[in-house]
Amino acid sequence: MKIIVNGKEAGTKQKGCALCGGTWGDYYEEIDGEKLFFCCDICALEFINMVNEVKKRSNWSRIDELIINGNYYTGRTCSAKNGNREYKFYVKFNDDAGIETFKELS
Ligand SMILES: [Zn+2]
Repeated sequence: MKIIVNGKEAGTKQKGCALCGGTWGDYYEEIDGEKLFFCCDICALEFINMVNEVKKRSNWSRIDELIINGNYYTGRTCSAKNGNREYKFYVKFNDDAGIETFKELS
C-alpha cells in the first residue's frame, strides 16, 4: 500500500508513521500482508479501524493507495484508491482510537 501523509510518503521507520507521519516510536503492524511502521499502538489501531471501515463501505478487499491529510484534532480528509477506483472520506477518531466521525465525500 502506498501511503501519503500530509504530502509525504509514509509507512516505514525512515519515512514516518503511516497515520500521522511521526518518526519517533517503534511499532509495526501487518496490514494486507505488508508490515507498516507506526509511531505507537494508538496510531496503528486508528489506521486499522479506518482501513476496515473503508473496505466495508467500498466492498474492496484491499487498498492500493491511501492519501491522508490532517491530524487528530482537525480530523483527516483522505482518499483511498483501488486500481482506478477512488473513495474519498473524512474521518475523526475518539480518545480510544475508535471512529468518532466518518463521512463519505464526493
Ligand atoms: Zn503516528
